[in-house]
This record gives sequence, structure tokens and C-alpha cells, in this order.
Amino acid sequence: MNSRNWIGGEWFTPTSKACAVINPSNTQEEVGVLHLSDSSHVIQAEQAARQAFTSWSRLTGTARAEHLYGLAAALESKSADVAQLASLEMGKPITEMRGEVMRGVHLLRYYAAEGVRANGAVIPSSEPNVLQYTKKVPLGVVGIITPWNFPVAIPIWKIAPALICGNTVIWKPAEFASLTATRLVEVFAEAGLPAGVINLVIGKGSQIGDALLEQITLDAVSFTGSTSTGSRIAQTCAKRNIKYQTEMGGKNAAVVLNDADIEKTLPMIVSGAFRSAGQKCTATSRIIVESGIYDSFTKALSKAISEIKLAPSLDPSAYLGPVASASQYETVMSYVNMAWDQADILAQGPAAAGDQTGYYIQPLVATGIHAQHSLVQEEIFGPVTVVLEASDFDHAIALCNQTVYGLSASLFTQNLSYAHRFLDEAEAGMVRVNQETAGVEYQSPFGGMKLSSSHTREQGQAALDFYTELKTCAIRYF
Ligand code: NAD
Repeated sequence: MNSRNWIGGEWFTPTSKACAVINPSNTQEEVGVLHLSDSSHVIQAEQAARQAFTSWSRLTGTARAEHLYGLAAALESKSADVAQLASLEMGKPITEMRGEVMRGVHLLRYYAAEGVRANGAVIPSSEPNVLQYTKKVPLGVVGIITPWNFPVAIPIWKIAPALICGNTVIWKPAEFASLTATRLVEVFAEAGLPAGVINLVIGKGSQIGDALLEQITLDAVSFTGSTSTGSRIAQTCAKRNIKYQTEMGGKNAAVVLNDADIEKTLPMIVSGAFRSAGQKCTATSRIIVESGIYDSFTKALSKAISEIKLAPSLDPSAYLGPVASASQYETVMSYVNMAWDQADILAQGPAAAGDQTGYYIQPLVATGIHAQHSLVQEEIFGPVTVVLEASDFDHAIALCNQTVYGLSASLFTQNLSYAHRFLDEAEAGMVRVNQETAGVEYQSPFGGMKLSSSHTREQGQAALDFYTELKTCAIRYF
């Protein structure tokens, strides 16, 4: 398959630069070719999105909702095909990828329903015969910049609320998920989305990022990706007074107290740490265990790790697949080597069976390092997690908060007081008890504190605040 741009309702293939897409499960297989845009395509996309904005923003909410219901139906009918391609392109196990595509379908339906919800408030006036009220209005053209690790759900959780609020979109997906992006937009185009409402521009952030952020004038930018890129984008947007949200990295802790039910807790810890090969912003990358349960918990954890299956992404029995790309492999392996050199290895999962030539990394649990060690502090974004021992609840909370990130945190306990204290004291945007760190539902706000986020929220009703501006209206009647 070839990537293509979709701008102003027309498909076309940039011709100046191209690169092969390698299947991370089998690096000898080419999945397709990426055709990379230059700044002229970004400029065309802005013109198309501006042109479409007038008619799209003037549609009633009900009419925009009908389009979103249409996109949801179209995606559901093509869900197997989209999941298969995404799984081949970035290595997420097919069972997980199917779930992700269905999450996209549900997000489209959820935001379609927002088309008929009240979107303002009547505010009593201090003067007689004055009706004063607020209404949310669209922003204009929104730039959406997405990572590769949720190649379907993240774009849709940005695009769907942006569209229902009346905005038009320029979408730049990550390089390692651009075939999936092309297929997704093909599905949307076939479903009859009007020209210019979504404009897809495929390219490298390093090559067209400046055009998106400096050469055109977006009305808002919604970015998900690394903290380093997000911080740069935030600075540029702040300088130009462009509304922005940046959802970034995490170093999420799962705290296991002495009274936790090990049997019920373990599957959530293992899943949080290793599903998607640890490539979730909300992955469990630190496990903090209270002393009284440390030995029994770590023994059970080692056994569980020895039983999980690393396999090609299309194998329906794969618990985790390869990491997404050669660069991911290099980065994560540098931490694996650091763990073998500087830490104690508590457990290592089995290698992929057979003669696999993919970016496979065996799940790894390291321990015996201090709380300031790079393995404890830096986002690894791979199937590597660390275990720290805490003397009591207060020590566990202190360790949990000892990070520059603040995305997600979980506590495993049966003690109601500790549960409430954790929900109050853990410095993270998503705090959970007896739940894994990943897996927040789409109807709830999603986002982080500290360096994980620009402090806005995505998904749920919170997204509608980002994609609109509030107008205060007042009318006197005689
Ligand atoms: P990344 O920052 O390298 O890239 C993200 C996107 O930004 C890509 O589309 C990329 O092309 C683009 N980009 C890169 N440089 C740019 C520039 N100068 N200007 C404009 N765009 C640019 O991140 P990644 O490797 O794709 O994703 C992994 C990261 O994403 C991890 O840090 C992970 O924690 C984070 N993430 C966060 C969340 C969240 O909601 N907090 C969710 C998923 C992933």
C-alpha cells in the first residue's frame, strides 16, 4: 500500500521523497511506501480547510452528527481491514488493535451525540429585559498531530470532537502510522465526508512541523507525543497566541500495598506494563511494592512474566508483539542493556518462538536500583518496568510522586482509607484504585499533570471545551 495525502477532497501522492514501511514483526517484509509531503502541501491543506470551514461550521449540530454517525458505520464495516493494516504497520497485537478500532467507532458515536447537546448557559442579567447567555463556537482550522502508538484511537479522539464542534482539520499522523492514517481517511472519504473537512498531510515532523506551526496560521493545535516535541510545539504556539494542547510522556506507577489481593492484582500489573509492548503513555513503568508483600508479590510476578507470549502482531495468541520501529528498538534496547549492567533482573519473559527477524524485545523487570536512577525516572516506552520497595503507604506515595511526569497512577489495596488518600495525594491526572494504569474510558477526561500535559484534557466532555471558544451574548428586548 502507498500513503497518500487527502486535501480539499482530492487524493494525491507527493513525489519528491519516499521511504519504505517495514513490518516490525518481520523486518524482511515491506508493508508499503510512505510518500512524504513538503511545506507546499501544508499550505494547500490550510487553504482547503479554511474554504471548507464556512459551510461545515454553519451546518446544524444535527447535520454534523449525521456525518459522524456515517463515519462510525463505515469504520465499523471496515474494522477488520483497518486493524490488520495497523497491526502490520506498527506491531500492536491484532487482538488489541481490533479493540482499538472499535474504540474509534464508539468515540465517533459518542461525539456524534454531542451535536444535539445544550452548549451554553443562561446567566441572569443585573438589568431588566436583558437575556444574557453563553454559547460555544468553533475555533476554525485545527492542526492535529498524532503519535504512532494508538494509530486509530488517538486521531479519532481528537478529530471527532473537533468536527462535531464545527472545526475543520489538518491531520499530520506519525511516520510509523501513516499507512493506517491513509486507510482511515479512505474509509471516511468513501462515507461522504465533505471536501476539506479533514485534510491529511503525511510527512515527518522534522520536515513539515515548521510549516504547520510557523508558515500557516492554525486556530488551534492538538498534539500527542513525546514531552520534548510537545514542549517545542507549546512554545511556538504560545509565541503566536495559538490555542494548544499537548499530551505527552508518562512514568506511571502501580502501588501494591500489603493487603492487595495478589491473584487479582497481577494480571492488571502485567497488562499495564507489557500489553502493546509497553508502548502506551499510561503503561505501568514503575511497580512500588510495600515490604510486607514484597517477596510473595515479586515471586508471583516473575512466574507471570515467564508465561507471557511474545509473537508476531498478527498471531492472535500474542500477548505482546515487537516494538514499532528500528529507532524504538535501539532506544528501548539501550535501557535493556543498562538494566543488565546496573540493576538486578527480577524477571525476563520468553523470546519470540521460531526464527523471527523483527523488533522483538523480551519483557524485562529490573530492581535493585535507587529511586533517582534513569531506569526509574526516564520514560522507556517499551516492555521494561522497574520494581521499588516501599516501607509503608507514606513511603509508597512519596516514591509514586518522585517523577517529573504525572499522567496515570494506580493503587492496589482493600483499605478504603488508603484508597481515598491515594486518590487525593497521587500527583497524576488519572488516579485509579484496583485498576491498571492504562485503559481510561473514552467518556472520561484524559490527560496528565506536571510534564505529562499542558493541563487541558482530552476525551469526554472536556474535549468540547478545547475545540470551542466561549462567546458571552447579551440581548436587550423592549
Ligand atoms: P514524537 O513526539 O516523536 O512524535 C509525535 C508526533 O509529532 C508525530 O506525528 C511526529 O511526526 C510529530 N513531530 C515530531 N517533531 C515535530 C515537530 N518539530 N513539529 C511538529 N510535529 C512534530 O512522539 P512518538 O514517538 O510518535 O510517540 C511516543 C510518545 O508519545 C511517548 O512519549 C508517549 O508517552 C507519548 N504519548 C502520550 C500520550 C498522552 O495522551 N499523554 C498518548 C500516546 C503517546
